Order: sequence, then C-alpha cells, then structure tokens
Amino acid sequence: MKAHFDNSYSHLPANMFAEVTPTPVGNPHLIIRNDALAKDLGITFDDGDTAVFSGNTIPDGAAPLAQLYAGHQFGNWNPQLGDGRAVLLGEVVQNNQRFDIQLKGSGRTPFSRGGDGRAWLGPVLREYLVSEAMHALGVPTTRALAAVSTGEPVVRETVLPGAILTRVASSHIRVGTFQIYAARGDMDALKALTDYTIARHYPDATGPSDLLNAVIARQARLIAEWMGLGFIHGVMNTDNASIAGETIDYGPCAFMDSYHPERVFSAIDQFGRYAYQNQPQIATWNMAQFATSLIPLMDDRDAAIEEFTIAVNGFNDIFQVERRRVFGRKLGLSVMIEADDALASDLLDLMAADGADFTNVFANLDDARDQFLDRAAFDAWHDRWTKRRDAEPVNALIISRNHNVEAMITAAVSGDFAPFHALLAAVTDPFAPLTDATKGFANAPTEEEQVTRTFCGT
Ligand code: AMP
Ligand code: MG
Repeated sequence: MKAHFDNSYSHLPANMFAEVTPTPVGNPHLIIRNDALAKDLGITFDDGDTAVFSGNTIPDGAAPLAQLYAGHQFGNWNPQLGDGRAVLLGEVVQNNQRFDIQLKGSGRTPFSRGGDGRAWLGPVLREYLVSEAMHALGVPTTRALAAVSTGEPVVRETVLPGAILTRVASSHIRVGTFQIYAARGDMDALKALTDYTIARHYPDATGPSDLLNAVIARQARLIAEWMGLGFIHGVMNTDNASIAGETIDYGPCAFMDSYHPERVFSAIDQFGRYAYQNQPQIATWNMAQFATSLIPLMDDRDAAIEEFTIAVNGFNDIFQVERRRVFGRKLGLSVMIEADDALASDLLDLMAADGADFTNVFANLDDARDQFLDRAAFDAWHDRWTKRRDAEPVNALIISRNHNVEAMITAAVSGDFAPFHALLAAVTDPFAPLTDATKGFANAPTEEEQVTRTFCGT
C-alpha cells in the first residue's frame, strides 16, 4: 500500500496517546479491499497490502498510536477507556480533507484492560458491510478500506477465526476524548484537543461555544438519518459519539425489519436505553456531556453553563428540522412542515400496530396495503397522503437485514465468502431497481428467519 501519511494527532501532547505497533499475526489472508475508497484517499494498493492490513508491516510514513479516551457506558462513567483493540496507523490528506487509517483487531495496547485486543471474523465483516451500506445510503459514517483474516484463533464463547478491519474515519475523536481531560483537570490536553478539533473539523468555529453548536448540529442530522432508515445503533455511549458526526462503532447495531418504536436488538441493552425512539434523547444527553467537558475552558463558567444549556436544549429543534427533511424525502413531500408531522407519525403508528416492515412499506408506499392487517386504516392514510404528496418518494429498497448478515457470517466462518460479496454488492447499491441477484435481500425475514438479538461482538 502506498499512501501519503501526515500524522497530526501524533504531535498532540504525549499523554493523549500511546505509541504502539500492531501485534503481528501468523497467517494473514486478504478478504477484501475497497478500490473505490482507496482511490478517493489517494492510496494505491499493491502486493504488500495483506501484510499492511494485518499489521505485520508498518507502511512508510505511518506513525502508529492508540488514542486515549474515557466515556459514559450505558450512563455510567468509565474514567479510562482508549483504543484497546485498535491502532491508528496514521492520517492521509486528500482534497484538503484529513482521514484516519486505523486497524481494528490488531492486538493489545496499553488501553486493552482485560481484553485480547483482537476481533473475530463476524464483527469485522459486519462492520465492513454495514458501514459501506450506510455510506451508500448517504449517511455520514466511518468507512471500510480492507478486511483480512489473521489465521489465528480468537477465543470468545467458542474459538473463532480472527480478523482485522481497516477503518477510515474523518477522525476518531469522540465525546469521551474530551471527557477524559476535563475529568482529569488536564487543561493542557483539553485546550490542545479543542484547538486541534476546531482546526480539523470546524475551521469556522472561533471557540468552544461554536464547536459545541457545530457538533450538536451534526449529531442532530446524523440521528435524523438513522431514524429515517429504522437504524438502531445499539451502543450510543459517549465514547462512541463522533465529534465529526459520523456513525462509528458498528457493534450490535441493526436495521429493524418490522417497525416498533421501542425496538432493541443489543443483547446487553437490558433496559432499552438505546431503543430506536430513544436515540434523539440519548444524543442530546451525549451532547450535554460534551458541553460539560468544554466548561473548564471558559473564563466565565456560570455564563457558559447558561449558554451551553440553551445550546444542548436546542438539539431537539434542529433534530425536528432534520427529521422533516428526512421523512419529507421518504414521503415525497418537497417541503415537509410541522403540519405534516401527523402524516408521518400516523403511518408509523399503523406500522407499529401491525408490525409492518419499515423498509418495505416506505419503498412501496403505493403498494403497501398487504403489509397491514387494518387495511381500511391504511387506505384512509393513503388517501390523505395521495392528496398531499407533491414529489417522488426516495427510499432504499435494500438494507442490511440481520438475518442476511447472520447467514453471511455463518458462511464466512465455514470458509465461503460468496454470500459476503453478494450481500455487499446489494446493500451498497440500495436505491437501484431490484434484480434477480438482489431481490432476495429485499425480503423481510420469515418468522423462523427473524434475528431479534445482536451482540457486541468484540
Ligand atoms: P466498544 O464497545 O467497541 O465501543 O469498546 C469499548 C471499549 O472496550 C474500548 O475501549 C475498546 O477498545 C475496548 N475493547 C473492546 N473489545 C476489546 C478487546 N477484544 N480487547 C481489548 N479492548 C477491547
Ligand atoms: Mg467504541
């Protein structure tokens, strides 16, 4: 791999990261590399890629490190997390945009705590597939540059094949990256991180207040996009909340099949904290934690608390605007206004009552009658909608359905990667008319096929 590295994070105060190299693996094999993304990043692939993507070779110009951060996990403060199974190889700059190139599953770091620093094949393929699908759906997200198998076993509940994902992100700076220095009272690091983040992501911002407002706007937009896809992130901890406003950390995430506002998939989310309908409020809570961590930078802290509280409380207004933009597009309303909210919420209520398939109802609004038990109620809604709509609805036909993802992983573990490639091709072209090769992936699962639980998959 040839890339022009320019490693700005490594110039931040030395206590913000640990210099660490990936731990070599025994018998790596390339599963996939992403040519289109490489081209966008000015990266050229070559014969040495498997060695680079497995962590066995450090590419020229890279300066590998693991980043330090903390975070609230399910609302509970964890004072130190950090890259425990990931190494930032370095950054590349293309068209004035800077991207992190990170190996995930590359071995232990000083922040691994009890973990082995490794990943198994299932979560690696899952993240590759779902992050690339999200990108194709137009949602801000980290990307996937490559996946390799390591030839080494990873011990979880059973022994599983090891793998490594090469992840690309606008950055890996999280709410939790700010939280750790605020909590420690490390003003040098907090100030350096804030200046760095502004310069890298929000160059128009003149200080912490602008930064807060800009991040709130990006997060509100991101969550609105998730809501429009029936996407449930599953682990919206503050260490998984990207300051750049990208979807990050595809652990137990899922797109729902049949709609219900309280839908939860993650096996560890016992109380439904991160249920579909809670996502806007959780993002607001995360932004409150971000605001709190910026307060020490302010000269007049009382005034800042007042100002930042207003900013955080403003999340919902921005979210509502973004939600109308997203659902207006889905319903074929060239401009969706507050008076149209009932049109969307009444449809969702009907879908929830009858367990209709989220994606397929929106993808076939004119032909969705069969999805409902109460057909008269749907017909009445459809009449209202027909009178109001003034544009062509835009909806994805194909999302990464859990049952297809699980079947793909099962096949890959047994050595058959064909389902991975077929599913990837389908979900990365989600608006295209269905073909013989893709139409199976548009089907809702049968009752036997349904997957109702997903796992963090570390
Ligand atoms: P996540 O749930 O993926 O956001 O990870 C939460 C924290 O646990 C992060 O600090 C990770 O680096 C760490 N972690 C997760 N899995 C492992 C692992 N297998 N080995 C070491 N650290 C891990
Ligand atoms: Mg994480």
